[in-house]
Amino acid sequence: MKIETIAIHAGQEPDPTSGAVIPPIYLSTTFERAEDGNYPHGYVYTRAGNPNRTMLEQCLTALEGGADCAAFGSGMAAAMSVFQALRPGDHVIAPDDAYHGVTRLLRELMLPWGLEYTPVDMDDPANVRAALRPSTRMVWIESPSNPLLKVADIAAIAEIAHEVGATCAVDNTWATPIFQRPLGMGADLAIHATTKYLGGHSDVLGGAVVTREVGPLFERVRFIQGNGGAVPSPFDCWLILRGIRSLAYRMRAHADHAMQVARFLDAHPQIERVHYPGLASHPGHAVAARQMCGGFGGMLSVAVRGGQTAAMGVAARVKIFTRATSLGGTESLIEHRASVEGPESKTPQNLLRLSVGLEHPADLIADLAQALG
Ligand SMILES: *Cc1c(COP(=O)(O)O)cnc(C)c1O
Repeated sequence: MKIETIAIHAGQEPDPTSGAVIPPIYLSTTFERAEDGNYPHGYVYTRAGNPNRTMLEQCLTALEGGADCAAFGSGMAAAMSVFQALRPGDHVIAPDDAYHGVTRLLRELMLPWGLEYTPVDMDDPANVRAALRPSTRMVWIESPSNPLLKVADIAAIAEIAHEVGATCAVDNTWATPIFQRPLGMGADLAIHATTKYLGGHSDVLGGAVVTREVGPLFERVRFIQGNGGAVPSPFDCWLILRGIRSLAYRMRAHADHAMQVARFLDAHPQIERVHYPGLASHPGHAVAARQMCGGFGGMLSVAVRGGQTAAMGVAARVKIFTRATSLGGTESLIEHRASVEGPESKTPQNLLRLSVGLEHPADLIADLAQALG
């Protein structure tokens, strides 16, 4: 089945009791036992399992081509569950340009917990090999990365991870399964902030871990989900599933608009550099063209000539783009990334990150043109 069809149907049968085509929201926190003491529908208590969560998990499993999925209340809760599934003393390799929340999680929470962690520039898979230790248990990839849109070769890095028996996890939030399917390239886990493109409308927070195989590591993730309790509400699951139905069509438009905006900015004298893997000049373009199919996503960042003041000035003058963090909604957003990442940020001060939305690209380009002056 094609991915457009999977997005609309996987996990989503009409409701057997009412015939409702769109699933109801199961708010009940508890489920009845049969006279024999068993739970005939498999649900006991909503922290452990809920019908809306099952539907979402089945759909995400199918979209990523995996074996199972655990949904969480945020992307960070999903990431946390993966790191907590390891043991103190285990070593993790992660990108030096990962989503700053993941870097902060590793540094501020998981290092004190006992995990060892090495940030690595994953432009070259050889850097990952050089960072391997006998205790390496996980290589975490984010591609394209945040905020510099660096591209990591997922198949090559997964192979290196597997040589030492480590798990390869890919944060696939930016590409989505429409453009990139890490599990088919040898990765073991695909992680999502469903808050972003999957939800797609900037109105729900969520996360997910999809696994290629159900083994001890994923069983621990599932245990952490039910017992750690960072679970999404039934309504959150319902909203994310509603967003997913139009995912394929939204992603195509996001990528088409981002490409047009990237080309415009690339030719603009006020712009020093455009980071978008769809541009042939991007250092990761060849790898991205091989491992992403159908598009390069809706995110890009730009270095503005004139430093921080000039960059902030552009963000101050836009009228259609909204100055806000996050990404993946229908509306276009722009942000001065170093400001949101805080004082420890290594992001260049003249960098603006753009989430290119679904407005008409001509309007977006005109807006940027007037803001750049
Ligand atoms: C937003 C984001 C996260 C964190 O997700 P939350 O839902 O905000 O917790 C993780 N990774 C990437 C790439 C993101 O963009």
